[in-house]
Amino acid sequence: MDYKKFLKILLASLILGLMLITTHIGQAFAQEISDDYSVHLAKDFGYGAGSNVRGTFSISVRGDQENIQRVIFMVDGKEMITISEAPFKFQFKTDDYGFGWHDLSVEVVTRNGETVVTESVRYNFLSPEEESSGITGIILPIGGIILVVLVISALIPLLGKRKSERTGGKPRSYGIMGGTICPKCGCPFPRHIFAMNLLVGRLDRCDSCGKWVMTTRATPEQLAVAEEAEEAAIAQSAEPVAVKDSEVDQLEASKYVDSL
Ligand SMILES: [Zn+2]
Repeated sequence: MDYKKFLKILLASLILGLMLITTHIGQAFAQEISDDYSVHLAKDFGYGAGSNVRGTFSISVRGDQENIQRVIFMVDGKEMITISEAPFKFQFKTDDYGFGWHDLSVEVVTRNGETVVTESVRYNFLSPEEESSGITGIILPIGGIILVVLVISALIPLLGKRKSERTGGKPRSYGIMGGTICPKCGCPFPRHIFAMNLLVGRLDRCDSCGKWVMTTRATPEQLAVAEEAEEAAIAQSAEPVAVKDSEVDQLEASKYVDSL
């Protein structure tokens, strides 16, 4: 009988104790974590990529500066420095606090003596080795992208030249993208895959004049007309050479006649 009573009292006091402890912790957290103040980290000199940092940084507190009596900047819950007058800011080197993840927070003592703690922010203080590998990690992909762009821009004119071969009146093939007519020089050319689609048309490079022009897909009839015009233009530009040849022939003939 007494034994059972003792157990009941023990259990009840345990539950009561647990309830008191949890409510106390809850209250403590509710009071301490501040909505009015927050911790801020700014890079003064060094490396910063997201949470990965290394170099000289300034930790400061954001919020009503007028109501601050003093602040305690904290790293992993331990004091870095206490500052009792504005500006409430502290410059430090990440190397001085050890490499790896750290929680940064600020304990703010307000003018009316209240102590509040900001929510902590997590940063990974990089070692010199990690920093240099982090930098190569950024530079290598950028270098790769630049290289690819250079190679493509070098290949585009080659592709254009190959396709611009004239067929001399034979039906032309414009490929799956179809053909278009250059508004600048009037020559037909196959539409390129690399052209940029800008809704109202495609910005493409003319094979004949090399200019970037706005194009829309041309009908076979339109292309045939443009082809004929181009062939005629080529034939015309070739004519003076033919005239010259016949002139030379005539001269040769007259010289022959004169000598007789
Ligand atoms: Zn053109």
